[in-house]
Amino acid sequence: MNVPEALHAIAATGDGYCWYCDRSLPGAGQEAVQEGWDVQRLPGERVASIILVCPACQREKRELGEEGFLRNLSLRVCNSTC
Ligand SMILES: [Zn+2]
Repeated sequence: MNVPEALHAIAATGDGYCWYCDRSLPGAGQEAVQEGWDVQRLPGERVASIILVCPACQREKRELGEEGFLRNLSLRVCNSTC
């Protein structure tokens, strides 16, 4: 998959959000590419879905590992909503 191309396409729709933290994708595809947003493919039951990952979440995921990241994320979401 061509990430910059996908970012441009999603930015053009105006409603891209980080899969993990709901941060919104910059309105301009170029900006999203420069900030380091990533597009990943999640295998689904019938169709693969495409998710956006913001630069902050990518960094955390790299530092904490998948499991630690998800645990940390649920704590963070909980703290901000309850
Ligand atoms: Zn994020």
